[in-house]
Amino acid sequence: MPLYDYKCESCGKGFEVSHRMSETPKISCPDCSSDQVRKVLSTGGVMGTTTGGSTTDLPPSPCMGGGCAGGMCGL
Ligand SMILES: [Zn+2]
Repeated sequence: MPLYDYKCESCGKGFEVSHRMSETPKISCPDCSSDQVRKVLSTGGVMGTTTGGSTTDLPPSPCMGGGCAGGMCGL
């Protein structure tokens, strides 16, 4: 079960709650018992996968880069 980061709007305390992704349980602050908490999106662990691009530099069609030199595309 994934862990989610929550932050209390009342006292500012951050804490983690484990629950299913499809569930939104009633969560209250473990420190001050306030229910004014909001989910904090985690920024760790998933960064660094959108950079690069060397694999997307291919031409949109094999014909554009001379790939049809054998007449495979029928042009
Ligand atoms: Zn609190």
